[in-house]
Amino acid sequence: MDAPVIGITTGYWPREGKPGLVAVPESYIQAVMRAGGIPLLFPFPAPVEAVPLYLQQVQGVLFIGGGDIGPEYTHNPQGPLREVQPDRDRFEFALMHQVLERGVPFLAICRGIQLLNVALGGSLYVHLPRDYPGVNHDQGPRRYERVHEVQVAPESRLARILGGTRFRVNSIHHQGLNRLAPGLRVAARAEDGLVEAVEVEGHPFGIGVQWHPELLAPQDPAMARLFSALVEAARQYRREGRSTGA
Ligand code: MN
Repeated sequence: MDAPVIGITTGYWPREGKPGLVAVPESYIQAVMRAGGIPLLFPFPAPVEAVPLYLQQVQGVLFIGGGDIGPEYTHNPQGPLREVQPDRDRFEFALMHQVLERGVPFLAICRGIQLLNVALGGSLYVHLPRDYPGVNHDQGPRRYERVHEVQVAPESRLARILGGTRFRVNSIHHQGLNRLAPGLRVAARAEDGLVEAVEVEGHPFGIGVQWHPELLAPQDPAMARLFSALVEAARQYRREGRSTGA
């Protein structure tokens, strides 16, 4: 079977009087499947020791959105913070470090791009309305609405994948990238200058986007191509025998 397996990180939804849910919004799963990938969920809190075992099963990884990254990683104790989950941070940073080291193709969405920047030594605006007032980047329940523009760097891989350099996107984030980590290139900015996409230098396929392409993909071929590109990179990764499970 030719379809590569794409590992997908998971989020946590507390429920009153019932066990919380470790789950993934179906939009991420659908986006991977429509792109020809087979989704495999990575539950948390799994022990960090599970990360290499999980990675043996996949040829690519999708980091999904979620709550804020905790102060022990951002080294910024200023609040207000939302939905910080230390178990999730611990697991996802371990996963991010290993996909970076091993050259596993990955797409990191929203919280994912923030995780990527912090993992490589960059910093975050931990509360955008105070730390970077500009465009309103947190549109709350208007999840599908394209509320601001992004300007994509013409020479970037992202521009080639999307097939253009100007797009309107949705925006549901509370934190944002501040100091860019070494090893990252800015691939897109919002009209207020905030970083909206990055690429990892020297990595076969490492892209982070601050918006939510999985919500736009069903109606928007350009956004769907981000997932197709991930799946294609995963296929290539397997072909080259770099998957430790191969
Ligand atoms: Mn935004």
